[in-house]
Order: sequence, then structure tokens, then C-alpha cells
Amino acid sequence: MPKHTIVLIPGDGIGPEVSSAARRVIEAAGLEVEWVVVPAGADAIERHGYDNVLPDVTLDAIRQHKIALKGPVTTPVGKGFKSVNVQLRQKLGLYAAVRPVRSLAGIKTRYEGVDMVIVRENTEGLYTGIENEITPGVVTSLKVATEKACTRIAQYAFHYAMQRHRRKVTVFHKANIMKLTDGMFLNCSRRVHEEQYPEVAYDEVIIDAGCMKLVQDPTKMDVLLMENLYGDLVSDLCAGLVGGLGVVPGSNIGADSAVFEAVHGSAPDIAGKGLANPLALIMSGVMMLNHIGETAIAEKIKTSYNRVLADGKPNTLTRDLGGTASTSDFAEAVIAKL
Ligand code: ATP
Repeated sequence: MPKHTIVLIPGDGIGPEVSSAARRVIEAAGLEVEWVVVPAGADAIERHGYDNVLPDVTLDAIRQHKIALKGPVTTPVGKGFKSVNVQLRQKLGLYAAVRPVRSLAGIKTRYEGVDMVIVRENTEGLYTGIENEITPGVVTSLKVATEKACTRIAQYAFHYAMQRHRRKVTVFHKANIMKLTDGMFLNCSRRVHEEQYPEVAYDEVIIDAGCMKLVQDPTKMDVLLMENLYGDLVSDLCAGLVGGLGVVPGSNIGADSAVFEAVHGSAPDIAGKGLANPLALIMSGVMMLNHIGETAIAEKIKTSYNRVLADGKPNTLTRDLGGTASTSDFAEAVIAKL
């Protein structure tokens, strides 16, 4: 019997390519694992014959095995089904998205020494998807903030900061305009800081100014705490500071289960061409391994990809990093260094 059973959602777009690369690296590093492969997205209906883009078989597998590695799933723009990624987070109560953004040796960017972690509330805000047409030509979108979810995510961020000896938690908000919803987020963060984690440094910034500060000097930022939509936008902004979407991993953490996935989407523009960088999902796999206590294997993979990056050989780096390697060339280069 393998030691671990892990759910694998290949996803669509570049999902199957990057998830197969991540799977190969994790197996080559020595994880004893049985993968339970389940579908999500349009593919679940078109290729697997389910009646739903997020079938019960997928949700039940994650509920049963608690841990999943997930490739991206395409969300139709302006029409069609509700985002599978959002549904998954809401249905499984994966309330915290944790996205470490770090400079990597060998990847040249404007800044060195970036080391931030975005903690994004993952279940409410504008992502409730409650939209209405009041009358033709007038539509609304409902932003929801509950005291329970705001307090829970603040507790997660402060606990995370304390456990990992981080310097500071900074809340990004727009409570000057959204006085009730972002006001609730801010008040809950302040309360959790004062009552439970006074030893962790805390500050807050209005999100527009926060974005400016991020691009002026990201090394001044540490743990960034924010509501759902801001977390989505700031994650991509931060990815741009350290080399792009190909190098930023993520996890979605709930009380009962956790789903590890890269920050990037399904990148339809490069899907099926072997051009995608699988590093972000490999790094998400490393987060997953640490989460399940396989820290030695996690470290081994991390050391290997860092060596590949530091070597900087064009034939082992993908195109987004200035190289010529395919998705699987990169995976093989990491495996060769294990
Ligand atoms: P979503 O909203 O679903 O998260 P997105 O709008 O952030 O998606 P992506 O699909 O992530 O968009 O793609 C944004 C850009 O980044 C595209 O040009 C895409 O090719 C590029 N990109 C995303 N992921 C990767 C990757 N792993 N390797 C190389 N390029 C990538």
C-alpha cells in the first residue's frame, strides 16, 4: 500500500501538461503515492460524461482523501458556468488561499530579496457571484463580508505569521469606499491582532497605495492579508515582480481538506504546445508535501529546481523564463538533479 493517497485534478488548458510534469517530479523524488485522478471543468462533461462541471466524484474524492493537487480549470468569460475553482473553494470551505511570492536565484527581475506571502480570503467578497439585472441596462454585483469569515482569515494570517517568524501582517483594503464590507474586514483584522496576536507587527494600507508600494519596493512587504478579489489581482501583480505566473505556487486551505494549485490560470494561448512552465505547480506540490509532513522530499525537489534555475541554461528553462525548454524538458531537468 502506498503511504499517501492524493487526489489529482489535471484540469484543462495547460493543466494536463503541468500536472503530468509535477506528478513525474513528485514520484521521481520518492513519494509513495497513489493518485486518484478526477475531472473538473468543461472536460468533466465533454470527455467524461458527467452532468456537471464539478461532479460529486471529484468533491467526494477530496473530502475522503483530504489532499489534492490541482491543475488550472478554464472559466468562461462573461457567460457560461460559475468558476469551478470558486465552486471548489466554496463547497469544500477552503477559506484561505496562501501564495508565497519569492525571488528565485537565476530569474532576473527588477528586485532581489522579495519574500512575501499573500493570504487571500477565498470564500466570499464579490466571488459569491450574486449578480442581478435590476432593469435592462442596470446590473449589480453583491459583495458579501461576514464577521465569521473575516475573523477566520485574519486568525489564519496572524497564526501563519507567528508560526513562521514573519515580520508583519499588512491588510490591503478599500474601507474608505466600502465602509461596511471592507470596514468589516479591517475591524476583524484589528481585533484579531489586538486580542490574539499583539506580538505580531501589524499595519494596513488602502489597496491602491498598497499596489504602488509593492511595485516601488516589494522587499518591504511581508504577509499580505486581503479579501477575495483583491487577493486575485494582487497575486498576479506580485507574480510579475518575481518572474511571472510560471513561478508562483499556491494552496487553498480548509478545516478538513487542502487543494494545492498554482496562481496561474489555464493559459489557453499556450495550451497543448508544450510551452507552459510547470514550476508553479511543482512548487505547489512542494507546499503540499510540507503540508503532509514529507518535508525531506519537499526539500529535495526544491533544491533540484533551484539548481536548474541557478544554472540558467536556456535548454532547461521554459520560454517565459527566457529559455527554449518544453514543459517536459524542464521536468526532466529537475528530475536529473534530484
Ligand atoms: P485565471 O483568471 O483563470 O486565473 P488568468 O487570467 O490569470 O487566468 P492565465 O491563464 O494565468 O490568465 O494566463 C495569463 C498569461 O500568463 C497568459 O499569457 C499565459 O500564457 C501566461 N501563463 C500563465 N501560466 C503560465 C505558465 N505556467 N507558463 C507560462 N506562461 C504562463
